[in-house]
Amino acid sequence: EYSLGPKVSDWDAQRQEWLSQHPDFPSRGARGRPRVLLVTGSPPGPCDNPAGDHYLLKATKNKIDYCRLHGMDIVHNMAHLDPELTGYWSKIPLVRRLMLAHPEVEWVWWVDSDAIFTDMAFDLPFSRYEGHNLVIHGYPDLLFEKRSWISLNAGIFLLRNCQWSLDLLDAWVPMGPKGPSRVEGGKLLRASLTGRPAFDADDQSALIHLLLVDKDRWMDKVHIETEFYLHGFWTGLVDKYEQMMEEHHPGLGDDRWPFITHFVGCKTCGRYEDYPLDRCLKGMERAFNFADNQVLRLYGFQHRSLVSAKVRRVTDPRANPLDAKEAALKMDAKFERV
Ligand code: UDP
Ligand code: MN
Repeated sequence: EYSLGPKVSDWDAQRQEWLSQHPDFPSRGARGRPRVLLVTGSPPGPCDNPAGDHYLLKATKNKIDYCRLHGMDIVHNMAHLDPELTGYWSKIPLVRRLMLAHPEVEWVWWVDSDAIFTDMAFDLPFSRYEGHNLVIHGYPDLLFEKRSWISLNAGIFLLRNCQWSLDLLDAWVPMGPKGPSRVEGGKLLRASLTGRPAFDADDQSALIHLLLVDKDRWMDKVHIETEFYLHGFWTGLVDKYEQMMEEHHPGLGDDRWPFITHFVGCKTCGRYEDYPLDRCLKGMERAFNFADNQVLRLYGFQHRSLVSAKVRRVTDPRANPLDAKEAALKMDAKFERV
């Protein structure tokens, strides 16, 4: 029987004890908001093509920018902590290790490497997540009525640092280990879910299956995010950024100004993809520049267009820098009020 490590069964009490002994590591950070650790990762070796590495770097820069602007820490992992759990399964032992190593962190936020923050002003609505331990984007009707294998997207999720989450990871992982578990798991998931092609067990299908078969055990504490794009599927978004800039403003997070654009099916770092590599890379370039404009604006610059890495100055270099910052902050305050 596979196990993620020695069973931990009293984490809530251990964590509380640790927090009370370390008042200098509060689980709430700036402005009373819960402390969040954003976690992403990429394979230990180089990508199969150099463009893949370039876009991996851009996607990582984008995440660093988002975290800096929102007062979060970030981890980028490149190690396979467990040789049995490679590829998309590698996030499970990683998220578990980080929870145990960082009791001061309230939420661990996994974000796939191929996800780009496209709304730099959007703040997660943590007050709505009180009483919930897993936050994930999805469609409840597709989940409960259709049992669709794409009803939730496991590429981005928030998991509260608590015993419930450790138990969820234990229940989620059994189909992950390489070999017969993954092969047999793949067959079971294909039969259990709709629309799923035949392939070895994947983490997303395994999570959906778990939540369906053990609904009473888990669903009380799961918040399925439907109000904004915690995960936004890229094909419907990347051609609309100019229109969004004409009609809307950052801070909305939904189809008017998507919080995250996720390049599902692209595999730009690997060898096989569902979409032509060229189309993926063009989309990523546009998403990156769209987001980067929201960062560069703070420093008085902007990309010449969404397909150009070149920038131009948009504020008067002789203007008082602190006045310019004040104006930028006012813009942000305006976004937050909407
Ligand atoms: N990942 C990782 N190490 C690996 C392979 C993948 O950390 O060796 C991470 C990476 O962040 C990736 C995510 O796991 O985005 C999901 O893996 P998948 O193969 O689905 O890649 P994607 O299609 O998201 O690029
Ligand atoms: Mn992905």
